[in-house]
Amino acid sequence: MLDGPPSFPSPTTLFSRAVRLRCPVCGGHPIILNWFTVCPSCPVCGFRLDRHEPGYWLGSYTINLFATEGAFAAFFVGGMALFWPAVPWLGLTIGGLVTVVATPILLFPFTKTLYLAIDLAFRPPEPPDLATPIERGLVAPRTPTGAAGGNRR
Ligand SMILES: [Zn+2]
Repeated sequence: MLDGPPSFPSPTTLFSRAVRLRCPVCGGHPIILNWFTVCPSCPVCGFRLDRHEPGYWLGSYTINLFATEGAFAAFFVGGMALFWPAVPWLGLTIGGLVTVVATPILLFPFTKTLYLAIDLAFRPPEPPDLATPIERGLVAPRTPTGAAGGNRR
């Protein structure tokens, strides 16, 4: 949890942090446990990443769907324009299939953090959003001197 009232970052900062897969609120990381799993809350500031809303990530799926459709359209129309009039239809079909399978996988964590940044730009966090206990074990414990210690072995 943050001490005192948090200074809220600008939309540019929110998006900059999101594309680097960091917490849009504080810039802390890691907020991605693996490529397909986002932490329940930020390990640095405690911000609840799903904002306590069931189905919250539906917005990120929508962004992912639009990005995939855009990538497919760019690939297919670009390929047609490049090879017209002798368009290699089989190659475009196979390439299009690879595009629609690979794009959502490659963009998956980025669409989650970008959706979070969009949501935060319009709906800044309320104090209850930051009241989530910090998940210990994801952050190196602090030593009495204040320097980050670690569980290095
Ligand atoms: Zn944070």
